[in-house]
Amino acid sequence: MMYNNLDDLSPEDEAELRQLEVQITELFSLLEKSEIQISLLKDENSQLKAQIQKLQQQPRSSQYKSPQVETIKVPKEVIPTVVPTDTSLRQNKRKCPNCGAMGFSIKEVDDKTKIICYSPRKIYKKKKVCTKCRFEF
Ligand SMILES: [Zn+2]
Repeated sequence: MMYNNLDDLSPEDEAELRQLEVQITELFSLLEKSEIQISLLKDENSQLKAQIQKLQQQPRSSQYKSPQVETIKVPKEVIPTVVPTDTSLRQNKRKCPNCGAMGFSIKEVDDKTKIICYSPRKIYKKKKVCTKCRFEF
């Protein structure tokens, strides 16, 4: 059918056909341009997606760190439970029985006459000295 129509074309129809062909090539070039634009936009889109992924990974990585911090906190929690008993003992000991001075007035020094342990290194028994009345205990 189409071939028959082409064969029977009048000069006017032929001119119209050429115009249409020009229009088609123009449309194809426009289509090509838009395809180039699409590919450019796709590239841009993939770049933006990569940026988004990077940005999303950053808080995620910090979230991954937080449980590690919590696991580190576990031994830290053990230390405070030890520290209060230790400080309470120190506070009890750090009071001069002679004059009643407390805290920084009491110095803790090694009593070189009383060795607790010889190996791996010498550990002397600690003694307290009151800096106010020089009472040793
Ligand atoms: Zn004292």
